[in-house]
Amino acid sequence: MKSDIIIIGAGPGGYETALLAASRGKKVVLINGGRLGGTCLNEGCIPTKCMVKDAAVVNACNSGEFGLSDLNFRLDFNKVVTRRQHVVEQLRSGVDSMLRKAGVEIVEGKGKFVNPHTVAVGEREFEADNIIIATGSSSKALPIPGADENFVMDSSAILKIEYVPASLVIVGGGVIGLEFASVFSSFGSEVTVVEYMKNIAPTFDSDISKRLKQSLAKRGIKIINGASVKKIEQNSEYQIVVTYDLKGKEESLTASDVLMAVGRKPNVEDLNLEAAGVEFSARGISVNDDMRTNVEHIYAIGDVNARMMLAHVASYQGIRALNSIDGIKDNINFNLVPAALFTEPECGSVGKTEEQCKEEGIAVKVGKSFFRANGKALAAGEPDGLCKLIFDAETDKIIGAHIMGAEAALLVQQCCDFITAGATRESIVQTIFGHPTLAEVILSAVHSVK
Ligand code: NAD
Repeated sequence: MKSDIIIIGAGPGGYETALLAASRGKKVVLINGGRLGGTCLNEGCIPTKCMVKDAAVVNACNSGEFGLSDLNFRLDFNKVVTRRQHVVEQLRSGVDSMLRKAGVEIVEGKGKFVNPHTVAVGEREFEADNIIIATGSSSKALPIPGADENFVMDSSAILKIEYVPASLVIVGGGVIGLEFASVFSSFGSEVTVVEYMKNIAPTFDSDISKRLKQSLAKRGIKIINGASVKKIEQNSEYQIVVTYDLKGKEESLTASDVLMAVGRKPNVEDLNLEAAGVEFSARGISVNDDMRTNVEHIYAIGDVNARMMLAHVASYQGIRALNSIDGIKDNINFNLVPAALFTEPECGSVGKTEEQCKEEGIAVKVGKSFFRANGKALAAGEPDGLCKLIFDAETDKIIGAHIMGAEAALLVQQCCDFITAGATRESIVQTIFGHPTLAEVILSAVHSVK
């Protein structure tokens, strides 16, 4: 069967691109080995964000604020699980019906290249002029004894547990590790995060990571930085023992459960890429800025090309790939990608960090403001937060925004617009900010620049 385009993988990269291609009148075959919506919808962004909300409600009830007293409530984790499943199912059926309405042919099963224009799913073969690979990524495990044992959970396994762990050691203080740390600590687990680097969330501006560490510690999460995990074992009482090296000294932690969240690896193995002549390594499929592989009509988008493992990046890379197929030039700026970390408090980041500017020799002016001086943050009972803005000292243009605090992801999106528009300090202060809003932390940070 011949179509215009075959897309392999129906995560946010694959299904959004399928919908766009169909809207451009193309005959699209979407091959998917897992559940529609991929990791993001089924085992990532969405189910975790449901739990982030549950955790926020629990924290609000435990806070002693808001006129609540004598609540005497208990968390029903079954309800947490069913609410999460309901949200995921609702979204998945929405994706399914959008694709069907658009006339996309959905083929269930794993796609394997037969030759550069043909992909097989079981016995069936599909042929197309262009092919987009969007197979995503899977959890990576450390090459240490015990990492592959079934008592070590990854981010998919922890979403299957039906209980709140009494104690949880999380190996890796990146985005996944910290989101689960925040959620399960709110649910009552005793949480310890063991991170290799000197900061948690090492990709964030260091002022944000340091402040986040303080905030999480205040909420009872233990964080050990600079620790290299060496082995994970189960003792005779079925407790898990995590052994790590800290400044040359061997130490260990014992917990009822362990999560490993040390990054993800691109899903390249099952595709038989050799049959198509597509170049790849364990680090992903290499692509150019059009997301085109070394084979003219084959593209790779999202986690599988490992350029930036974020759901929204996958979707925009799909637009770029399709535009390249259709000979359309676009202005999507892949150097300006907002990122978020949904801990409590939340973190958001866009543009250059102060460390990056130092490395690149860019002279900067920095503005900072604090949520505790923002009326809306105080009214909402969320005084913990920092807004840090970075301006190019020469042009006075905003080039980075790093925020920890309520709605940080949303606030950073507004800064992303400012950066895109080439806004200067002067033009931002002449923009009217509504009052009382959390967005006023941005204005205060601009005013604070000396
Ligand atoms: P990550 O790369 O964000 O973090 C992994 C962490 O593990 C790093 O901090 C690293 O230093 C640490 N680490 C590595 N080896 C270690 C060792 N031996 N001992 C202790 N720590 C060690 O990876 P992740 O958290 O697994 O997330 C995977 C991907 O998914 C990322 O690209 C992330 O951006 C994406 N993601 C994004 C979101 C979001 O946007 N909110 C949420 C979840 C995941």
